[in-house]
Amino acid sequence: MIIVPENKIADLITATDAFDAMEKLFVSMANGTAYNFPVIREAIGHADALYGFKSGFDREALQLGLKSGGYWPGNAAKGLTNHQSTVFLFDADTGKCKAVIGGNLLTALRTAAASAVATAHLARADSQVLGIVGAGHQSAFQLRANLATRNFKKVIGWNLHPEKLSRPASIAEEAGLPFESVSLETLGAQADVIITIASSFKPILLDLHIKAGTHLSCMGTDTTGKQEIDAQIAKRAKLYTDEIAQSITLGEFQHPINEKLISNDDICPIGKAIQDKKLARTSDSDITIFDGTGVGLQDLAVASQVVEKAIANNVATEIDF
Ligand code: NAD
Repeated sequence: MIIVPENKIADLITATDAFDAMEKLFVSMANGTAYNFPVIREAIGHADALYGFKSGFDREALQLGLKSGGYWPGNAAKGLTNHQSTVFLFDADTGKCKAVIGGNLLTALRTAAASAVATAHLARADSQVLGIVGAGHQSAFQLRANLATRNFKKVIGWNLHPEKLSRPASIAEEAGLPFESVSLETLGAQADVIITIASSFKPILLDLHIKAGTHLSCMGTDTTGKQEIDAQIAKRAKLYTDEIAQSITLGEFQHPINEKLISNDDICPIGKAIQDKKLARTSDSDITIFDGTGVGLQDLAVASQVVEKAIANNVATEIDF
Protein backbone atom coordinates (compact mmCIF):
# COMPACT_ATOMS: atom_id res chain seq x y z
CA MET A 1 0.00 0.00 0.00
CA ILE A 2 1.21 3.50 -0.88
CA ILE A 3 1.10 6.37 1.58
CA VAL A 4 1.33 9.98 0.37
CA PRO A 5 1.22 12.40 3.32
CA GLU A 6 -0.34 15.85 3.14
CA ASN A 7 3.04 17.62 3.13
CA LYS A 8 4.09 15.85 -0.10
CA ILE A 9 0.97 16.68 -2.15
CA ALA A 10 1.92 20.21 -3.28
CA ASP A 11 4.94 18.91 -5.21
CA LEU A 12 2.99 16.14 -6.92
CA ILE A 13 0.06 17.87 -8.60
CA THR A 14 -0.50 21.17 -10.42
CA ALA A 15 -3.68 23.13 -11.00
CA THR A 16 -3.44 22.08 -14.67
CA ASP A 17 -3.29 18.39 -13.69
CA ALA A 18 -6.40 18.89 -11.55
CA PHE A 19 -8.19 20.74 -14.39
CA ASP A 20 -7.50 17.90 -16.85
CA ALA A 21 -8.63 15.29 -14.31
CA MET A 22 -11.91 17.13 -13.61
CA GLU A 23 -12.70 17.64 -17.30
CA LYS A 24 -12.21 13.93 -18.00
CA LEU A 25 -14.13 12.87 -14.91
CA PHE A 26 -17.16 15.06 -15.65
CA VAL A 27 -17.41 13.47 -19.10
CA SER A 28 -17.27 9.97 -17.54
CA MET A 29 -19.95 10.95 -15.01
CA ALA A 30 -22.21 12.35 -17.75
CA ASN A 31 -21.74 9.16 -19.79
CA GLY A 32 -22.58 6.98 -16.79
CA THR A 33 -19.25 5.17 -16.58
CA ALA A 34 -18.41 6.84 -13.27
CA TYR A 35 -20.87 7.21 -10.41
CA ASN A 36 -20.92 8.43 -6.82
CA PHE A 37 -22.30 6.48 -3.90
CA PRO A 38 -24.67 8.11 -1.38
CA VAL A 39 -22.91 10.60 0.88
CA ILE A 40 -22.73 10.02 4.63
CA ARG A 41 -22.45 13.14 6.82
CA GLU A 42 -22.99 13.09 10.58
CA ALA A 43 -22.67 15.48 13.51
CA ILE A 44 -20.79 13.07 15.77
CA GLY A 45 -21.59 14.79 19.08
CA HIS A 46 -17.92 15.29 19.92
CA ALA A 47 -15.68 18.34 19.41
CA ASP A 48 -18.60 19.94 17.49
CA ALA A 49 -17.37 17.91 14.51
CA LEU A 50 -19.14 17.06 11.28
CA TYR A 51 -17.75 13.84 9.86
CA GLY A 52 -18.54 11.80 6.75
CA PHE A 53 -17.63 9.89 3.61
CA LYS A 54 -17.84 10.65 -0.09
CA SER A 55 -17.20 7.67 -2.32
CA GLY A 56 -17.66 6.30 -5.82
CA PHE A 57 -16.34 4.20 -8.69
CA ASP A 58 -15.01 5.20 -12.09
CA ARG A 59 -15.30 2.04 -14.22
CA GLU A 60 -13.14 3.44 -17.02
CA ALA A 61 -10.29 4.78 -14.92
CA LEU A 62 -10.76 1.93 -12.38
CA GLN A 63 -10.77 4.43 -9.53
CA LEU A 64 -12.54 3.04 -6.48
CA GLY A 65 -12.41 4.59 -3.05
CA LEU A 66 -13.57 7.23 -0.65
CA LYS A 67 -12.73 10.50 0.98
CA SER A 68 -13.24 10.50 4.70
CA GLY A 69 -13.24 13.66 6.72
CA GLY A 70 -15.16 16.68 7.83
CA TYR A 71 -15.05 19.86 9.85
CA TRP A 72 -13.55 20.31 13.32
CA PRO A 73 -14.19 23.95 14.33
CA GLY A 74 -11.73 23.84 17.24
CA ASN A 75 -8.76 22.84 15.09
CA ALA A 76 -7.57 26.36 14.25
CA ALA A 77 -6.85 26.98 17.95
CA LYS A 78 -4.64 23.86 17.85
CA GLY A 79 -2.75 25.10 14.80
CA LEU A 80 -4.56 22.65 12.51
CA THR A 81 -6.84 23.14 9.50
CA ASN A 82 -10.53 22.99 10.47
CA HIS A 83 -11.40 20.93 7.38
CA GLN A 84 -9.64 17.57 7.58
CA SER A 85 -9.77 14.86 4.94
CA THR A 86 -7.99 11.72 3.81
CA VAL A 87 -8.50 9.78 0.57
CA PHE A 88 -8.41 5.96 0.46
CA LEU A 89 -8.05 4.18 -2.90
CA PHE A 90 -8.85 0.49 -3.40
CA ASP A 91 -7.87 -2.00 -6.10
CA ALA A 92 -11.03 -2.41 -8.22
CA ASP A 93 -10.13 -6.05 -9.03
CA THR A 94 -9.39 -7.26 -5.49
CA GLY A 95 -10.75 -4.72 -3.01
CA LYS A 96 -7.33 -4.41 -1.37
CA CYS A 97 -6.43 -0.93 -0.07
CA LYS A 98 -4.03 0.57 -2.63
CA ALA A 99 -3.23 3.95 -1.19
CA VAL A 100 -3.87 6.49 1.57
CA ILE A 101 -3.43 10.11 0.53
CA GLY A 102 -3.69 13.40 2.42
CA GLY A 103 -6.88 15.08 1.18
CA ASN A 104 -6.77 18.70 2.39
CA LEU A 105 -4.89 20.40 -0.45
CA LEU A 106 -6.48 17.99 -2.94
CA THR A 107 -9.97 19.15 -1.89
CA ALA A 108 -9.08 22.77 -2.62
CA LEU A 109 -7.42 21.91 -5.94
CA ARG A 110 -10.24 19.71 -7.22
CA THR A 111 -12.93 22.21 -6.16
CA ALA A 112 -11.10 25.05 -7.90
CA ALA A 113 -10.50 22.91 -10.97
CA ALA A 114 -14.20 22.02 -11.17
CA SER A 115 -15.23 25.67 -11.30
CA ALA A 116 -12.45 26.47 -13.77
CA VAL A 117 -13.62 23.66 -16.09
CA ALA A 118 -17.13 25.15 -15.98
CA THR A 119 -15.83 28.66 -16.63
CA ALA A 120 -13.67 27.40 -19.50
CA HIS A 121 -16.64 25.75 -21.21
CA LEU A 122 -19.43 28.19 -20.34
CA ALA A 123 -18.12 31.76 -19.98
CA ARG A 124 -18.07 34.23 -22.85
CA ALA A 125 -14.79 34.08 -24.79
CA ASP A 126 -14.32 37.84 -24.33
CA SER A 127 -14.74 37.79 -20.53
CA GLN A 128 -12.46 40.43 -18.97
CA VAL A 129 -13.60 40.98 -15.39
CA LEU A 130 -13.50 38.13 -12.86
CA GLY A 131 -15.64 38.62 -9.75
CA ILE A 132 -15.47 36.64 -6.53
CA VAL A 133 -17.90 36.43 -3.61
CA GLY A 134 -16.09 34.99 -0.58
CA ALA A 135 -12.56 35.40 0.70
CA GLY A 136 -11.93 32.29 2.79
CA HIS A 137 -9.41 29.47 2.36
CA GLN A 138 -10.90 28.19 -0.91
CA SER A 139 -11.07 31.60 -2.57
CA ALA A 140 -7.34 31.72 -3.35
CA PHE A 141 -7.47 28.36 -5.16
CA GLN A 142 -10.64 29.37 -7.00
CA LEU A 143 -9.11 32.57 -8.28
CA ARG A 144 -5.84 31.00 -9.42
CA ALA A 145 -7.65 28.24 -11.34
CA ASN A 146 -10.22 30.55 -12.93
CA LEU A 147 -7.69 33.21 -13.91
CA ALA A 148 -6.13 30.63 -16.24
CA THR A 149 -9.34 30.19 -18.24
CA ARG A 150 -9.65 33.62 -19.93
CA ASN A 151 -7.60 36.72 -20.62
CA PHE A 152 -8.90 38.55 -17.54
CA LYS A 153 -7.91 42.20 -17.08
CA LYS A 154 -9.24 42.82 -13.57
CA VAL A 155 -10.47 41.03 -10.44
CA ILE A 156 -13.22 42.41 -8.21
CA GLY A 157 -14.51 40.96 -4.96
CA TRP A 158 -17.11 41.17 -2.23
CA ASN A 159 -17.05 39.47 1.15
CA LEU A 160 -19.26 39.70 4.23
CA HIS A 161 -16.09 40.37 6.21
CA PRO A 162 -14.32 42.89 3.91
CA GLU A 163 -11.02 42.72 5.81
CA LYS A 164 -10.57 39.18 4.45
CA LEU A 165 -10.47 40.49 0.86
CA SER A 166 -6.71 40.89 1.25
CA ARG A 167 -6.55 37.19 0.31
CA PRO A 168 -8.12 37.45 -3.18
CA ALA A 169 -6.32 40.78 -3.63
CA SER A 170 -2.97 39.05 -3.16
CA ILE A 171 -3.86 36.39 -5.74
CA ALA A 172 -4.79 39.08 -8.28
CA GLU A 173 -1.51 40.83 -7.53
CA GLU A 174 0.37 37.55 -8.02
CA ALA A 175 -1.21 37.39 -11.52
CA GLY A 176 -0.27 41.03 -12.22
CA LEU A 177 -3.92 42.19 -12.20
CA PRO A 178 -5.64 45.04 -10.36
CA PHE A 179 -8.07 44.11 -7.58
CA GLU A 180 -10.99 46.15 -6.30
CA SER A 181 -13.28 45.58 -3.33
CA VAL A 182 -16.79 46.43 -4.59
CA SER A 183 -20.47 46.43 -3.63
CA LEU A 184 -22.65 43.54 -4.79
CA GLU A 185 -24.33 45.90 -7.27
CA THR A 186 -20.97 46.79 -8.85
CA LEU A 187 -19.83 43.19 -8.80
CA GLY A 188 -22.88 42.10 -10.77
CA ALA A 189 -22.68 45.06 -13.16
CA GLN A 190 -18.98 44.66 -13.99
CA ALA A 191 -18.08 40.97 -13.69
CA ASP A 192 -18.30 38.73 -16.75
CA VAL A 193 -17.53 35.66 -14.63
CA ILE A 194 -18.53 35.34 -10.95
CA ILE A 195 -17.30 32.67 -8.55
CA THR A 196 -19.27 32.29 -5.33
CA ILE A 197 -17.36 30.50 -2.57
CA ALA A 198 -18.80 31.74 0.72
CA SER A 199 -20.49 29.98 3.59
CA SER A 200 -23.98 31.43 3.57
CA PHE A 201 -27.52 30.34 4.41
CA LYS A 202 -29.27 33.10 2.49
CA PRO A 203 -28.84 34.52 -1.01
CA ILE A 204 -25.96 36.99 -1.36
CA LEU A 205 -26.31 37.84 -5.07
CA LEU A 206 -29.84 38.90 -6.02
CA ASP A 207 -31.59 38.53 -9.35
CA LEU A 208 -31.33 42.29 -10.02
CA HIS A 209 -27.53 42.12 -9.63
CA ILE A 210 -26.91 39.72 -12.53
CA LYS A 211 -26.57 41.11 -16.06
CA ALA A 212 -27.10 39.22 -19.32
CA GLY A 213 -24.02 37.31 -20.50
CA THR A 214 -22.66 36.51 -17.03
CA HIS A 215 -21.26 33.11 -16.12
CA LEU A 216 -21.52 32.06 -12.45
CA SER A 217 -19.64 29.17 -10.87
CA CYS A 218 -21.41 28.63 -7.55
CA MET A 219 -19.12 26.56 -5.35
CA GLY A 220 -19.94 27.33 -1.71
CA THR A 221 -23.30 25.57 -1.35
CA ASP A 222 -22.59 21.97 -0.39
CA THR A 223 -25.15 21.37 2.37
CA THR A 224 -28.93 21.45 2.61
CA GLY A 225 -30.02 24.97 3.58
CA LYS A 226 -26.92 26.78 2.32
CA GLN A 227 -27.46 29.37 -0.44
CA GLU A 228 -25.39 31.96 -2.30
CA ILE A 229 -27.60 33.23 -5.12
CA ASP A 230 -31.24 34.24 -5.49
CA ALA A 231 -33.27 31.26 -6.75
CA GLN A 232 -34.94 33.54 -9.34
CA ILE A 233 -31.67 33.84 -11.30
CA ALA A 234 -31.99 30.15 -12.24
CA LYS A 235 -35.26 30.90 -14.06
CA ARG A 236 -33.54 33.01 -16.72
CA ALA A 237 -30.27 31.05 -16.91
CA LYS A 238 -28.85 27.90 -18.48
CA LEU A 239 -28.10 25.49 -15.64
CA TYR A 240 -25.21 23.02 -15.21
CA THR A 241 -23.92 20.88 -12.39
CA ASP A 242 -21.47 18.13 -11.50
CA GLU A 243 -24.23 15.80 -10.25
CA ILE A 244 -27.96 16.50 -10.49
CA ALA A 245 -28.90 14.36 -7.46
CA GLN A 246 -26.63 16.44 -5.21
CA SER A 247 -27.43 19.74 -6.89
CA ILE A 248 -31.15 19.51 -6.12
CA THR A 249 -30.71 18.31 -2.53
CA LEU A 250 -27.62 20.01 -1.12
CA GLY A 251 -26.36 22.25 -3.94
CA GLU A 252 -27.38 25.71 -5.09
CA PHE A 253 -30.24 24.40 -7.26
CA GLN A 254 -32.05 22.94 -4.19
CA HIS A 255 -33.64 26.40 -3.85
CA PRO A 256 -35.12 26.96 -7.34
CA ILE A 257 -36.25 23.30 -7.25
CA ASN A 258 -37.93 23.74 -3.85
CA GLU A 259 -39.55 26.98 -5.05
CA LYS A 260 -40.74 25.15 -8.21
CA LEU A 261 -38.98 27.68 -10.46
CA ILE A 262 -37.16 24.93 -12.39
CA SER A 263 -37.35 21.16 -12.81
CA ASN A 264 -34.58 18.52 -12.87
CA ASP A 265 -34.81 18.47 -16.68
CA ASP A 266 -33.60 22.08 -16.80
CA ILE A 267 -30.22 21.07 -15.32
CA CYS A 268 -27.50 19.76 -17.65
CA PRO A 269 -24.60 17.63 -16.37
CA ILE A 270 -21.50 19.70 -17.13
CA GLY A 271 -19.92 16.65 -18.81
CA LYS A 272 -22.59 16.77 -21.52
CA ALA A 273 -21.84 20.43 -22.29
CA ILE A 274 -18.11 19.62 -22.40
CA GLN A 275 -18.78 17.04 -25.13
CA ASP A 276 -21.42 18.97 -27.06
CA LYS A 277 -20.94 22.74 -27.52
CA LYS A 278 -24.61 23.12 -28.51
CA LEU A 279 -25.51 22.33 -24.90
CA ALA A 280 -23.22 25.08 -23.57
CA ARG A 281 -23.58 28.84 -24.06
CA THR A 282 -25.10 29.60 -27.48
CA SER A 283 -25.37 33.38 -27.20
CA ASP A 284 -23.35 36.21 -25.65
CA SER A 285 -26.46 37.19 -23.72
CA ASP A 286 -26.98 33.78 -22.06
CA ILE A 287 -26.56 33.63 -18.29
CA THR A 288 -24.90 30.34 -17.37
CA ILE A 289 -24.73 28.88 -13.85
CA PHE A 290 -22.57 25.96 -12.77
CA ASP A 291 -23.54 24.45 -9.41
CA GLY A 292 -20.37 22.72 -8.17
CA THR A 293 -21.56 20.58 -5.29
CA GLY A 294 -18.38 18.52 -4.83
CA VAL A 295 -18.43 14.74 -5.36
CA GLY A 296 -16.25 11.90 -4.10
CA LEU A 297 -15.12 10.93 -7.60
CA GLN A 298 -13.33 14.29 -7.86
CA ASP A 299 -11.22 13.35 -4.85
CA LEU A 300 -10.44 9.89 -6.24
CA ALA A 301 -9.39 11.37 -9.59
CA VAL A 302 -6.85 13.83 -8.17
CA ALA A 303 -5.63 11.35 -5.52
CA SER A 304 -4.97 8.76 -8.26
CA GLN A 305 -2.86 11.30 -10.15
CA VAL A 306 -0.85 12.02 -7.01
CA VAL A 307 -0.20 8.32 -6.38
CA GLU A 308 1.01 7.80 -9.96
CA LYS A 309 3.36 10.79 -9.70
CA ALA A 310 4.61 9.76 -6.23
CA ILE A 311 5.55 6.33 -7.59
CA ALA A 312 7.17 7.81 -10.72
CA ASN A 313 9.15 10.36 -8.65
CA ASN A 314 10.18 7.79 -6.04
CA VAL A 315 8.65 9.69 -3.14
CA ALA A 316 5.90 7.21 -2.26
CA THR A 317 6.14 5.37 1.04
CA GLU A 318 5.18 1.74 0.46
CA ILE A 319 4.12 -0.60 3.25
CA ASP A 320 3.08 -4.25 3.24
CA PHE A 321 -0.58 -4.09 4.28
P1 NAD B 1 -13.76 29.62 5.07
O1 NAD B 1 -14.38 29.36 6.42
O2 NAD B 1 -12.29 29.75 4.95
O3 NAD B 1 -14.41 30.96 4.44
C1 NAD B 1 -15.80 31.20 4.50
C2 NAD B 1 -16.14 32.45 3.69
O4 NAD B 1 -17.56 32.73 3.84
C3 NAD B 1 -15.43 33.70 4.20
O5 NAD B 1 -15.20 34.53 3.08
C4 NAD B 1 -16.45 34.32 5.15
O6 NAD B 1 -16.23 35.72 5.31
C5 NAD B 1 -17.73 34.03 4.40
N1 NAD B 1 -18.92 33.96 5.27
C6 NAD B 1 -19.02 33.45 6.51
N2 NAD B 1 -20.29 33.54 6.94
C7 NAD B 1 -21.00 34.14 5.96
C8 NAD B 1 -22.37 34.51 5.80
N3 NAD B 1 -23.27 34.29 6.76
N4 NAD B 1 -22.74 35.10 4.62
C9 NAD B 1 -21.85 35.33 3.64
N5 NAD B 1 -20.55 34.99 3.74
C10 NAD B 1 -20.14 34.40 4.88
O7 NAD B 1 -14.34 28.48 4.13
P2 NAD B 1 -13.70 27.91 2.78
O8 NAD B 1 -12.86 26.73 3.12
O9 NAD B 1 -13.16 29.00 1.95
O10 NAD B 1 -15.03 27.33 2.08
C11 NAD B 1 -16.00 28.21 1.53
C12 NAD B 1 -17.26 27.43 1.23
O11 NAD B 1 -17.00 26.45 0.23
C13 NAD B 1 -17.83 26.68 2.42
O12 NAD B 1 -19.22 26.85 2.44
C14 NAD B 1 -17.46 25.23 2.14
O13 NAD B 1 -18.34 24.33 2.75
C15 NAD B 1 -17.56 25.21 0.63
N6 NAD B 1 -16.80 24.15 -0.06
C16 NAD B 1 -17.38 23.59 -1.15
C17 NAD B 1 -16.70 22.60 -1.85
C18 NAD B 1 -17.33 21.99 -3.08
O14 NAD B 1 -16.82 20.99 -3.61
N7 NAD B 1 -18.37 22.58 -3.60
C19 NAD B 1 -15.44 22.17 -1.43
C20 NAD B 1 -14.86 22.79 -0.32
C21 NAD B 1 -15.55 23.80 0.37
